[in-house]
Amino acid sequence: MPPPPDPRFAAQAPWLEIDAQALAHNARLLREVLGQGVRLGGVLKGNAYGHGFAQVLPAAHAACDALYVIDPRDGLAVRAWEEREGVARRQVLVLGAVETEEAVELARAGVDLVLTDAGQARFVSALRSAALRLRVHVHVDTGLGREGFTLGELTAGVEFLAQARDAIEVAGVLSHFANTEDVTEQTYAAQQLAAFDEGTRRVREGLGLTARLERHVAASAAALLLPHARYDAVRVGIALYGLWPSSETRLSMRALTGHVPELRPVLSWRCRSQLTKWLPAGSYVGYGCTYRCPVDTRIAVLPMGYFDGYPRLLSSRAHALVEGQRCPVLGRVMMNHVVIDVTRARGEGSLTATLLGRDGEEQVSADQLAVWAQTINYEVVTRISAHIRRVVI
Ligand SMILES: *Cc1c(COP(=O)(O)O)cnc(C)c1O
Repeated sequence: MPPPPDPRFAAQAPWLEIDAQALAHNARLLREVLGQGVRLGGVLKGNAYGHGFAQVLPAAHAACDALYVIDPRDGLAVRAWEEREGVARRQVLVLGAVETEEAVELARAGVDLVLTDAGQARFVSALRSAALRLRVHVHVDTGLGREGFTLGELTAGVEFLAQARDAIEVAGVLSHFANTEDVTEQTYAAQQLAAFDEGTRRVREGLGLTARLERHVAASAAALLLPHARYDAVRVGIALYGLWPSSETRLSMRALTGHVPELRPVLSWRCRSQLTKWLPAGSYVGYGCTYRCPVDTRIAVLPMGYFDGYPRLLSSRAHALVEGQRCPVLGRVMMNHVVIDVTRARGEGSLTATLLGRDGEEQVSADQLAVWAQTINYEVVTRISAHIRRVVI
């Protein structure tokens, strides 16, 4: 059923359904896998993996112990939401790049920041002037070759932190894996873990810390597959949204534990047709005349396209679901239009097509769309345009 009208969106626009109970279910399953003593962190970057930051926040806030974002403004948005709703604060950690003024705002709001490189020493004088102390987690680059202090840089990094104690409180240490998703053996991950333990030791000893440092390394794949990578907290993104990091991860899970948890996809993507009509045999459909109807064909025109994040690579490849029937995408995906074959689908008038999600017995998964579009499920969901209406169900 289409959602009720909302003047901010065209009546004929596509929409996403965000299943808050599915997210809560995934969080429960993850907690079962993790066991006691490991904090569950939810990753809300990339507009909550395309699901919609604002729509996912209440469910993720309720289900997780900590929230991780890239954009400092998202970290501040969590604090503003907590204030408005009168709910207790969660730990919030900004993983992404920030400027000095943003670092000051985060300190004021009690949001943690990932310290990634010596360049962030520039925050210190601004924090001192504001008489603020920023909680940071030291990112150790253990082999991803992205942000973080390499082991070689860590000595200087720790010296800087020792001198900035009044402005910077070291609350945690983290790293990020390079190669846990696309493999069924985890030798590179083991090397990264050894480097992480060494990095943690250097931070702890260099700063003479006796208090607990929160250690977190695992994203979804490692959280599921590598018990010794779970440490004190995990940062789970894709699995929280009910998707597997890869088929290798799923296969490894079965091989290692004999059991595959039933993650439930949180997102469905639907659109009502703007019109249906019969085209006689021999008619062409769409730009480039790439599709020609072999027989009389009933088509539905959907008012959405690659502008909305439906990949053009799905042209003549994907199908949508109407009344539980598979309806092939005919010809090219256009900027604002997709044409599907509804010859076999029941229903007259405006039809509701499911581009991603379940309809009756059938399902189009993000994994299936990713195969058709030659990418990964992460990209399929994250690129669904932020302008589309998202409805929490
Ligand atoms: C994206 C990201 C995660 C979450 O990864 P998933 O595979 O979606 O669970 C965790 N940590 C960092 C640093 C990330 O960038």
